[in-house]
Amino acid sequence: MARNRVQPVITFAVPVVLLGLLGYLDYGYSKVFCYDQLYVKKNRRACAIGFIVEFNLLLGEALLLWIITALKGPGKLNQQLKPFDLGPYIQRGQTVYANDKASFPTTSKLERIPDMFLCNSEGFPFWCSECKTLKIRRSHHVKSLGRCVPRFDHKCMFLGVVIGENNLLCFFGAVFYFWLFFLFGFITITVFASSIRDYTSASGMKIIEPNIIACYIGDIFWLLMMTFMFFGQISLFMDNDTSIDVLHRRRRSRERKMNRTVEPDFVNVAHPTLEDVRVIVELRERDRVFDKGYRSNIQSIFKTDTWKALFYPSLGSGAEEPSIESGESDLIAEEEHLYSQKFQQTIQKRIENGDGRIMGS
Ligand SMILES: [Zn+2]
Repeated sequence: MARNRVQPVITFAVPVVLLGLLGYLDYGYSKVFCYDQLYVKKNRRACAIGFIVEFNLLLGEALLLWIITALKGPGKLNQQLKPFDLGPYIQRGQTVYANDKASFPTTSKLERIPDMFLCNSEGFPFWCSECKTLKIRRSHHVKSLGRCVPRFDHKCMFLGVVIGENNLLCFFGAVFYFWLFFLFGFITITVFASSIRDYTSASGMKIIEPNIIACYIGDIFWLLMMTFMFFGQISLFMDNDTSIDVLHRRRRSRERKMNRTVEPDFVNVAHPTLEDVRVIVELRERDRVFDKGYRSNIQSIFKTDTWKALFYPSLGSGAEEPSIESGESDLIAEEEHLYSQKFQQTIQKRIENGDGRIMGS
């Protein structure tokens, strides 16, 4: 209960504090560093004006992308997908297991299900009981929003925004501009640091004005954070990974190292040779289910015009959502398309080598 009450306060407070810090940084940089030091004392007028304009343009773009990230939202599942009818496959698995060829059901018209989907140890796909749908499109249920978010990435503590398929690129744009902003502040202050020591400290030493020092330290801290986030996000794009997937894997590997029993992940796949038979295969630590190679991964993120959102942000351009009219077979085809070919082939090979368990056995 306490957590439920505290959570919204944190969600709100952290971005507000961050905005306050940014305001102070802007004051320290634009007013104290650029205007007082460069413009007035050093008479470097063009330089001071140029710095102020550039610094504030970068900040403005970053804030604009922050707002757009929040306004666009992480996206939602427009369609529900009802559970797959796995009964006939379980039955067939049982007869295969019993090696009872006589009672093999003759080819009945089965409902189409994906050739591959992530599942629990029993072979059943993941279901959201609140949204009443299979968790398609790599979605996760986000409690604070009360809905499933496709390609859920993480909840950004600093921006106070849930990041998913729909606003991922705008979020990346915001990170990119914040990174540039702190980098610009860092470089310009560093260049002039030695020539602006004209503040007399209590001990009589000549130092840089304390506001500038405070801003400089803050700038370096955030520059490191943003560098980490910016390159971290690029690495996620290259692997077609999400933050939550990475965290999930890290937790697993930590638990393994501590010799705890870890419930593995599974995929449910069509048997390579037996018709209408499904196999449940346990995933290995190094398996990357969605990794289609970095070229393809990057292309899928920057598909259509979405990359333009980084430079010409508008509310209209975002990750494409399939239209609400698309039927169940389209949804299933879309699901299948998520999994990498290479991974599918790896799994088929493993099954041929005796890995996996026939569903129903
Ligand atoms: Zn849900």
